[in-house]
Amino acid sequence: MAFVEQVVSASPLLHLTTMGYSMEGRALPVVVVGDVEDASPEAVLATGKARVYVQANIHAGEVCGKEAMQVLLRSLANGAHAEWLDSLVLLIAPIYNADGNERVKLTNRRYQHGPVAGMGQRYNAQDLDLNRDNMKLETPEARSLVAFWDRYDPHVIIDLHTTNGTRHAYRLTYAPPLHPNTDARIVELARAHLLPEVTRTLKAKYDWDYYYYGNLPWRGVDAERGWYTFSHQPRFLTNYVGLCNRIAILSEAYSYATVEERILATLRFVEEVAEVAYRHASAMRRITAAADSVDIVGRELALRATYERSSEPVEILMGEVVEERNPYTGLPMLRRLDVRRPERMPEFGTFRPTETERAPAAYLVPGDLNEVLNLLDDHGIEWSRLEVAVALRVERFVIDSTTVAEREYQGHHERTLFGDYEETEVTLAAGTAVVRVSQPLGRLAFALLEPRSDDSLVSWDLLGDALDEARYYPVMRTFQR
Ligand SMILES: [Zn+2]
Repeated sequence: MAFVEQVVSASPLLHLTTMGYSMEGRALPVVVVGDVEDASPEAVLATGKARVYVQANIHAGEVCGKEAMQVLLRSLANGAHAEWLDSLVLLIAPIYNADGNERVKLTNRRYQHGPVAGMGQRYNAQDLDLNRDNMKLETPEARSLVAFWDRYDPHVIIDLHTTNGTRHAYRLTYAPPLHPNTDARIVELARAHLLPEVTRTLKAKYDWDYYYYGNLPWRGVDAERGWYTFSHQPRFLTNYVGLCNRIAILSEAYSYATVEERILATLRFVEEVAEVAYRHASAMRRITAAADSVDIVGRELALRATYERSSEPVEILMGEVVEERNPYTGLPMLRRLDVRRPERMPEFGTFRPTETERAPAAYLVPGDLNEVLNLLDDHGIEWSRLEVAVALRVERFVIDSTTVAEREYQGHHERTLFGDYEETEVTLAAGTAVVRVSQPLGRLAFALLEPRSDDSLVSWDLLGDALDEARYYPVMRTFQR
């Protein structure tokens, strides 16, 4: 905080604000960098420029992004990249998981190559993973973030991490939004233009290899050898952003590179993404606006998904590490060696639907399900109430059976409903909430409200006991406009 306060005082182009607070009441800083009057959303939106939001330290042991963003802020304050501000406003949030950052231990992220004097922890003060909270919004951090996005509406969002997975030879790996319901133009912009261009530039400038995030199958998992990305689910921040029609990039520095190298790898990546955003700012604004105006009603959308195998094998650069010891704990940590061992293997970097439903015209939520309606509000999903009772042809989901996971995950036991929709005529009470799917956040509403969606109100068991003996899922839907 001392650093961001000092750096904003060094340049009229930098302005400090906060997106909100952590559970323990720490302000979550955002530095607004641009040709703006002040840090307010009104001032930022009034520029009409493309907005790029960069966030570090969601997992507070993955510290290199936090350092890289301070380096970037310092150089921006010194006048570097001044041309970016012709078409961009940058919103830089260097320390999202501020409470986790305070819980320094020398044994957090044990095999990571430092900082040898320790690093923060993955979870926030509630012991929750902020990168699994984007659908249920149970943490003040995620709620602050979503409210901030609602006010500043960034076009591009970069989420900075560090991976300690497979020993590969990349300086950094990345991912675009992965949910199959993401608007095709958003995905194409990231996969066909932004990421290839950034990758080519970094290779040409520094001879550093960057590629899509992936891992070999985890030990004990019976799967074909290949390059597997993580998940399509919107509980993950970048997948969530994609479902909200914005361009998102996950950035994963490599745990076994030295701290200095990780900071540099992250800094260079963010700089090149910003460079492309600067040159193609109007395309970014056009594409996100076009995605917002798509009417998805009647489209067949994914409820659940699985990895899609690439038709051809791809070349993955495998690497090697050597064991060293943390001088203070004496415990082993790993350091990358400058080895590139190309191996051809299938890639599992995208997802295909395993189950689909047609997007309805509207969902009908009983007027007294306040927790559901509050959550829709928190996400910025629009809805309205019926002023009078209405007789309507609807579909309601008949529950055949329900399973609840034995294992607790992020404080919940995952629930799955089995059953089918049936058509019926009902009289909806006055006060029933109508959530129209033809709105910018229609894809998100579908993911939250469909009973078989795999990252929904049901799967997080947010409807609680209401479903235990229920014959019907309480939220109905209609195809009538
Ligand atoms: Zn992470």
